[in-house]
Amino acid sequence: MKSNQSFRLKVAALITGVLAIGIAFFLLSANSNSTKTSTTSSEDEIAHSFSLNNQPLLGDEDAPVTVVEFGDFKCPACKAWGEEIFPKLQKEYLEKDSVNFSYVNVLFHGEESELSALGAESILKRDPHSYWSFHKALFNAQPTQTHNEKWVTVSKLTEIAGNTTNVDLAQFKQDIEAKSMLSDVERDMSLVEDYHVVSTPTVMINNKVVEDPFNYSEIQKAIEEELEESTS
Ligand code: CA
Repeated sequence: MKSNQSFRLKVAALITGVLAIGIAFFLLSANSNSTKTSTTSSEDEIAHSFSLNNQPLLGDEDAPVTVVEFGDFKCPACKAWGEEIFPKLQKEYLEKDSVNFSYVNVLFHGEESELSALGAESILKRDPHSYWSFHKALFNAQPTQTHNEKWVTVSKLTEIAGNTTNVDLAQFKQDIEAKSMLSDVERDMSLVEDYHVVSTPTVMINNKVVEDPFNYSEIQKAIEEELEESTS
């Protein structure tokens, strides 16, 4: 009788245990589902809140469509994009008020990426009107054949700043060496993370990444869709 009772107790304990594990598993998986959902919605929020604040801007601030290039001055494909695709974009859209353009620094090529980003952020802060001339001249300075060799140096950046901007060159040099604009570069790096940018150039039109940034008709199509949406 006693041993029967203890057997029943053991079975009851076992069933309770199995139930407890089942419930725990159910709660855990429900919890992980809700975590997943909340991650997705927070990603959506990020994707709808790209801020042009403290970023270079070409075109009308209030344009309904924003094109963002995530680029790296050290990246040969970014130089090519700037030469092949960007002029078409500029001519067709940026010269009108409907589309604006911004650029976020990506540091996929190490020290030289960082140096050039620090230099560009310094120009943006000290002489914003000269930013795009500096930007273009820096890409122009990227050697076509030997881009893997070291070409971004403080003296090269200072020379370009001297040719394209009105900044105080001693101040500019010091900004780079003391990494004065590091927080701006870090802001860009966190955008790279937020938008899951894995290659350069990555082109985003109203927060949607273009599949092939070298396919200009894809860019046109995405812009036209956004323009249509903005007027409807
Ligand atoms: Ca920036």
